[in-house]
Amino acid sequence: MISEKMKVMTANGSAVRALFEEGKKMAAKVGPENVFDFSLGNPNIPAPVNVKDAIIDLVNEEESINIHGYMSNTGYEEVREQIAQSINKEFNTKFDQKNIIMCVGAAGGMNVMMKTLINPGDEVVVIAPYFMEYRSYAANYDATIVEVEPDTKTFQPNFEDLEKKLSPKTKVVIINNPNNPSGAIYSTETIKKLGELLAAKEKEFNTSIYLFADEPYRDLAYDGIEVPYVTPYYHNSIVIYSYSKSLSLPGERIGYIVLPYELDDYQDIFDAAAVATRILGFVNAPSLLQKVVARCLDCKADISFYDKNRQLLYNGLTKLGFECVKPDGAFYLFMKAPVEDDMEFVNEAKKHNILLVPGRSFACPGYVRIAYCVSPDLIERSMAKFKELAEVYFK
Ligand code: PLP
Repeated sequence: MISEKMKVMTANGSAVRALFEEGKKMAAKVGPENVFDFSLGNPNIPAPVNVKDAIIDLVNEEESINIHGYMSNTGYEEVREQIAQSINKEFNTKFDQKNIIMCVGAAGGMNVMMKTLINPGDEVVVIAPYFMEYRSYAANYDATIVEVEPDTKTFQPNFEDLEKKLSPKTKVVIINNPNNPSGAIYSTETIKKLGELLAAKEKEFNTSIYLFADEPYRDLAYDGIEVPYVTPYYHNSIVIYSYSKSLSLPGERIGYIVLPYELDDYQDIFDAAAVATRILGFVNAPSLLQKVVARCLDCKADISFYDKNRQLLYNGLTKLGFECVKPDGAFYLFMKAPVEDDMEFVNEAKKHNILLVPGRSFACPGYVRIAYCVSPDLIERSMAKFKELAEVYFK
């Protein structure tokens, strides 16, 4: 018999995964070329050639015992030092290897940090729209999720509601910048204001509130828009970075956590996070991939591909009459459903073989998420289907 907790998690499932399965069934029925699946955030540009070269070189150059063995739970020291120096170069920070822990993707990193910090009943504040997996991560450690209402005018955090939702029980606040699903980028002004608010609340409650900056999409920002680095703006910031999207390596499960010296209880947190990495069963981040990313620090995904898709989709959909949030980052477009019930719209879209994720899955009903990490051809061909869909609503 499975555990009570897993009964709940299994029953809730993931809306995106369910759509993925639905897409497979639809493809079997109408042919894969006739399914317009915009549900999954799986990068579809190849990893940069430097990644392949680094893998081949490492395998050829190094003794197998060196590249496939266990190391410290926090990761290879030299890799962590190289990552710290590359962050310093880009953001003018002062990190060294003692501020970096290698992790198993952002999902692994978030779980390590929640395991490290959370007591049952602590509150984890999330800002809608937000990545739905945060709910499960918080539930893993018996934390309570507290949702901040979305600000659907700007898709920046709704500060009025955020202030109300912070309490003496708040242990963690999660931000995700650039944002999945809205594609919004929180501005420097937003991050500054957030830092000030959290510092004021820590003082008021006499507690420590840790800000998790979940940043797998950091390098996917368009039109030169800056994604502010949080650590200068708030002392209790923890950055969780992943190479899943920036280097198109989601299956390889590699990323890092930044734990600044300014954190309250920095040393305890660093030591506990190393233990959490071990006892969650990760033991350490994948050894070969640690060395690979260290050789690819100056290497970024060619985001011009996603940018073209972004323009194609945004221009096409707005021309048809749909109201869209213009994405500044990530590879998602958030579109207002032309009816109040986003689920009704998602079901109508399915009749036209279009798979979308309902906004309610991100605590933002009335919207749908369209993942544009697909081929431009799929976007172009989908427009005829979106036209049919528009005609249902805009007569
Ligand atoms: N955070 C957000 C906002 C995501 O969208 C994802 C994956 O889609 C993750 C975290 C997990 O990423 P990773 O593959 O690095 O675990």
